Amino acid sequence: MPALPAIVGGSPVREKILPYGHQEISPEDIDAVVRILQSDYLTTGPEVAAFEREFAAFTGAREAVAVSNGTTALHCAMIAAGIGHGDEVIVPAMTFAATANAVLMQGGVPVFADSDGDTLLIDPCDAEGRITKKTKAIVAVDYAGQPCDYDALRSLCKKYSLTLIADACHALGGSSGGKPVGSLADLSTFSFHPVKPLATGEGGIITTDDTTRAQKMRRARNHGMSSEALEREEQCTWFYAIGELGYNYRLTDFQCALGRSQLKTLPTRTKRRQAIARHYDEAFANAEGVAPLKRRPGVEHAYHLYVVLLDPVVIKADSKTVFQALRAENIGVNVHYIPVHLHALYRERFGTGPGLCPRAEGAYGRMITLPCFSGMADQDAADVVTAVQKVCDYYSR
Ligand SMILES: *Cc1c(COP(=O)(O)O)cnc(C)c1O
Repeated sequence: MPALPAIVGGSPVREKILPYGHQEISPEDIDAVVRILQSDYLTTGPEVAAFEREFAAFTGAREAVAVSNGTTALHCAMIAAGIGHGDEVIVPAMTFAATANAVLMQGGVPVFADSDGDTLLIDPCDAEGRITKKTKAIVAVDYAGQPCDYDALRSLCKKYSLTLIADACHALGGSSGGKPVGSLADLSTFSFHPVKPLATGEGGIITTDDTTRAQKMRRARNHGMSSEALEREEQCTWFYAIGELGYNYRLTDFQCALGRSQLKTLPTRTKRRQAIARHYDEAFANAEGVAPLKRRPGVEHAYHLYVVLLDPVVIKADSKTVFQALRAENIGVNVHYIPVHLHALYRERFGTGPGLCPRAEGAYGRMITLPCFSGMADQDAADVVTAVQKVCDYYSR
């Protein structure tokens, strides 16, 4: 007799819920934060520049600009790319809404591109078909932690004189063709939300090789001011100029201290997630009904998310039922993402809707994100596999 799923009255695989993602904070991380809390600068102090230097070195970029979260990082990237009223920016449909929302923040128009059905990364051919005279930039999202096809995207951007922005919020620690994520596009943005590869609570950063753009983003994060408080203090002056609209998108010094400390353990944590992903890959290699996303050759995948697609021919239940059945087993599965063009905000403003990006929409109906974070034990990963097999077996019959 196969085990009965908890959703139909069986006993769950786990007693306690396993989340899909979780931060890992070490005693050294805590010490680093406490040290800054006891220092003179809680914000706009020396930790910010130190974090930026170390982050730039880690990603192989010339500059890094620390900001308050991944969304403000995207907004600053739009400002640096010169996006203004009516400018079109190509964004993938399969991403978190913030990617497209950042275009709206500058008065731009997001134009949704479809994904490759096997990787769920932006399809460069589909993107090219959506370029018009008004297109100014393309945003590539390294979905799940896998770098996009940057060779194709870079040549596309060169051909049409577009800025290439990488929304690399999932992919810190990954690489493509030996080049680290953060140095693959004109501007790359990151988020330090607790579920992401590096956690500062809230936080974000933009990397670029373009010093002029970096300076523009440093002004944007600080009310449009021409200098920062520490510089004025050092130069014994009160004067600053404001020539453009800016915001308060600053990251605090104690968050930057946490970021610096987390950066030291990032390679170890990345390897751990990759090991969990390998465990899943092997477990699902011959499974019926679930298939992991495909990997591109020549990339180092950061595995922020581990996503499987359900096969509707084998599994006679929709993804909502499978989702709820796995939650009942105390596996904290999730779905990433509702295609952005299906949200009312975009439907009502731009007339988007079903049929615009069929592969992203199709994948949305079949996708489940499984738990994958560095603090998971081998037994946790084994529980996930047991639960997936149990639920899939039940709904395949
Ligand atoms: C998390 C995330 C963001 C937003 O980052 P926040 O720090 O939550 O503002 C943007 N894009 C993608 C792809 C993300 O995963």
